[in-house]
Amino acid sequence: MFEYLAVNDKNSLGREFHENFFDSREAFQRDRDRIIHSKSFRRLEHKTQVFINNFGDHYRNRLTHSLEVSQISRDIARSLGLNEDLCESIALAHDLGHAPFGHVGQDALNSCMDQHGGFEHNYQSLRIVTHIERVYKNFRGLNLSYEVREGILKHCSKRRALKLGKLGERFLKRFSPTLEAQIVNLSDEIAYNNHDLDDGFRANLISLDEILSLDIVRIILREPDFSNISDEHILVSEIIRKSISLQIKNLIEESVKRIKKYNPKCIDDVRSCPELINFSENQKLLNRQLKLFLRKKIYNHSKLIEDNKKAKKIIKFLFQHYQKNFSFLPSYYYDGDSVSNEEAISDYISGMTDRYAINVYKELINGM
Ligand code: MG
Repeated sequence: MFEYLAVNDKNSLGREFHENFFDSREAFQRDRDRIIHSKSFRRLEHKTQVFINNFGDHYRNRLTHSLEVSQISRDIARSLGLNEDLCESIALAHDLGHAPFGHVGQDALNSCMDQHGGFEHNYQSLRIVTHIERVYKNFRGLNLSYEVREGILKHCSKRRALKLGKLGERFLKRFSPTLEAQIVNLSDEIAYNNHDLDDGFRANLISLDEILSLDIVRIILREPDFSNISDEHILVSEIIRKSISLQIKNLIEESVKRIKKYNPKCIDDVRSCPELINFSENQKLLNRQLKLFLRKKIYNHSKLIEDNKKAKKIIKFLFQHYQKNFSFLPSYYYDGDSVSNEEAISDYISGMTDRYAINVYKELINGM
């Protein structure tokens, strides 16, 4: 449909370092493969999404979340004639920079880094693929294509944007990223809004009646398919399945309207338009209500608060420990280059899985 607006090998802004390739993979297939083969990607399996990792085996973790985002974004990209491989690469890398223990971990690390430039998982995902992963002899990072790096960096402070050259310009001049990056951004929202509802119900943090009170669910229940479902779990699964499809359908329809209205002729035009991938105003209202519901009923639920307190304590302890005993930090994270001691500590801690952080914490406490 909008193939002329898709990023491809010919119009990509390319990689930071020149490489010669001897196989026929396209740029974004190669980027996806590099991401999947990275250590940071493998660690996503043991990082919390919302429910701390030892809560149960069926809850989403950062890896399964990233796979859901990838799958949703590919569906949307295919319908619009855009580059599925680029969406997949951005989606698989978008959460690489998350600290252990979900958002609580990020907040705790951010407050430890308060006087040292802060910590932000989105920027950290970019640091991982440009700086922290080290597997190639000629450069640091994964040397991914510009559009993947651009897509990973969803938001960025002015202070950081000023240091990022062309990649940072978008935040200073208010350009939009590629349509593929915009798709992944909203696919992330579709994925977590729906899977957190599913996980919250599974964990008994929310009841069926509470789910049924949501406006988006009332709309879904008007359909005849939903009249005779007596099993609560099947009903919730069917509701969530339908809710994902409705949101994807709405996003595609609204985005087609917007692209036709603004009528960009090439990717440069896309960059100077407002974001063209979007939900309808009505869908935005429904999504906002769902988000508020999740925040109130799940993210701030008393059952999660104890785990969250422990998580904060562990991050703070580890940070202070390595500040006092900097020579114990693995040298991989500090090689005397541009990073400060605190940035190196933050790179190490944010890269930890939940279980690794807990183990290091226990070892250190027992050794005291
Ligand atoms: Mg995400």
